[in-house]
Amino acid sequence: MESRAIALLKEAGRTGLLLSELVQELEQSASDVRNMVESLKRQGHVKEVEDQHNGALVTRLVWQENPEWNTLKGCPCFTCKEIEQCGEGQPITSWYCVKLNTWLAERLNPV
Ligand code: SF4
Repeated sequence: MESRAIALLKEAGRTGLLLSELVQELEQSASDVRNMVESLKRQGHVKEVEDQHNGALVTRLVWQENPEWNTLKGCPCFTCKEIEQCGEGQPITSWYCVKLNTWLAERLNPV
């Protein structure tokens, strides 16, 4: 079911699909499809987008080919190549890290 759902979502492109459309296409129970969609959302592959449909506010499911990681708005630690050497008693610590402290300063003192 998941591979078929992924194919349908990819085919729908940026327009996405309503959950009800996905349920209808997959011919599965709404709860099974909802659980699968939740799993894809946790993986970052499905994004929910608010939209108008027949005058009503609906949520479309849009496929994300390259999901963005949640890096807490760009915290450098999530993509740091030195993380293995960073920590208490290590050559690098977060206390003196220029990258982290610059990022924190920008959060505390936005321009
Ligand atoms: S504190 Fe600095 S060195 Fe340590 S993981 Fe974060 S960005 Fe990397």
